[in-house]
This record gives sequence, C-alpha cells and structure tokens, in this order.
Amino acid sequence: MKPTHIEHLGIAVKNLEESIPFYENLLGTKCYNVEEVKDQRVKTAFFLVGQTKIELLESTDPEGPIGKFLEKKGEGIHHMAFAVENATEALAEAESAGMALIDKVSRKGAEGMNIGFLHPKSTHGVLIEFCSK
Ligand code: ZN
Repeated sequence: MKPTHIEHLGIAVKNLEESIPFYENLLGTKCYNVEEVKDQRVKTAFFLVGQTKIELLESTDPEGPIGKFLEKKGEGIHHMAFAVENATEALAEAESAGMALIDKVSRKGAEGMNIGFLHPKSTHGVLIEFCSK
C-alpha cells in the first residue's frame, strides 16, 4: 500500500471555464487535459506540477458526489490521491488494517487510471484515493 508520491490533489470548483485560466496563471502551466468522467458525474481538468497533478472537478449533476460536496462545503480541496503499485491491492490492505473503504475494488477514473477511495471517517477527515496505472 506504500504510496510512491502524491499523484494528484482534487479540487472541487463551481466552474471549469473560470477556474482553468486562474490555475493556468497561478501554476504557470497550461491545462493539458479536460475529460468527463460519467461514472463520477464530473468534468475534470488537469495540470502538472512536478510529478503531482492538480485535478479540478466540476460537477455535471447536483446529486453527484462533487455536486453534493459543493452544496455542503463550497469550493475547495476535495481529495488527495496517492500513487500506488496496485490500487485494488492497496484497498484490500487498507481494509485489513481496519480502514473503512468507499470502494472495495478499484474502478476506472480519469486518464484511464485505476482508482479507489478510503472513507474519510477512518482517515482523520481526508478523502483519500489510491491510484495506479
Ligand atoms: Zn482524484
């Protein structure tokens, strides 16, 4: 389960059209990919900072996870993703260590990555994602 690095930080935003130019300016780099992830009811936009990405998340459905997050908390950091060798194995290890999971096995996320989430109730309040190629 030992992560190699922070793969990305997920930031919930109201509107990609406004937030992409802001982050391009802040980071001094262009957004290199915009992609809809239907399964999660989001549109994502990616920036690369070193080997870590910033993932902006715009909701496509108010009842989806980002739609609900924005309604409850407003814009801000939504999750942190660790790169691991194998996301499904990392989830299984986390579960056997007593952590609560959102995903028992990994599923396909943006950029073709295998992803799965731990429940924030067992991670001191942070939504943590494991991510593998
Ligand atoms: Zn993510």
